[in-house]
Amino acid sequence: MLNGSEVSSGTKSNKNDCAFCKRTEISYILKETPNFLLAADHAPLVEGHILIIPKQHFTCYGEVPAKLDAELFSMKQEVQQFFTNYYAPTVFWEHGIFKQTVFHAHLHCFPWGISGYDLEEELHNAIVSSQEEVRQWYALQGHYFYMEDIEKALLFAPEIDRYLGIVKNVFWRGIASRGGKVEWRSPQQRYEEGRPLINAMIHKWRLFQGQGADYANQTRP
Ligand SMILES: [Zn+2]
Ligand SMILES: [Zn+2]
Repeated sequence: MLNGSEVSSGTKSNKNDCAFCKRTEISYILKETPNFLLAADHAPLVEGHILIIPKQHFTCYGEVPAKLDAELFSMKQEVQQFFTNYYAPTVFWEHGIFKQTVFHAHLHCFPWGISGYDLEEELHNAIVSSQEEVRQWYALQGHYFYMEDIEKALLFAPEIDRYLGIVKNVFWRGIASRGGKVEWRSPQQRYEEGRPLINAMIHKWRLFQGQGADYANQTRP
C-alpha cells in the first residue's frame, strides 16, 4: 500500500504463489477464527496497523461470501474494542484490487480515530452500510476501494485522484495522529523499521486479551 509500484489490474494470483495463503508475509497472528486471521501488518504504517484476512483465497472482500459476514463483523468489533481501549477508534481500509500488493483480500485496520474525510469532498461514490453492498458494487462495477470509520463506510471508484485524495487527507493525518513518519517509505523500509511497532502492539494485544480474562473472572459467580 502507498507504494509506487502499481501492479497491473489484470493480475490474479492463485493460491500457489499467494503470500497470504502461504503465510509468508504474515509476521504475527494475533487471533484465528474458523475463517479469518487477525494479523500484524509486516510493514506497519503506525503502531497498531493490523489486518483482517480471510483464510480462503478471495481477491477482495467484494468476493467474500455472505455466510462469513457475521464472523467478519465480530472480528471488526474486537479490533474496534482493542483500538478504543489502547489507541483510538478504527479506520478500516481496503484497496480492493486497486493499488493492491497482495492479491488476497485483506482489511487494513488503523487506530486513527475519525478519518477526517468530509463527505463534501465528494471523492467517494457510495455510502454503504453492509458487506452486501460491497459485494453488489464488485459484482456490477468491479474494482473499488473502501474506507470506514465509526461514522461512515464508503466505496470509491478505483481512480487515482480519489485514491491520492484519501491518502493525503486520511492517511497522512492518521499517521501523524499516532506520531508516525509522515513521509513516503517503501514497504521494505517499513518492514525494516516495523519490528518495534509490531512488538509494542502485540504487548498491548496481550494486555487486552488478559483484560478480557480478568473481566470474565470477576463476573464469574
Ligand atoms: Zn494492503
Ligand atoms: Zn491467497
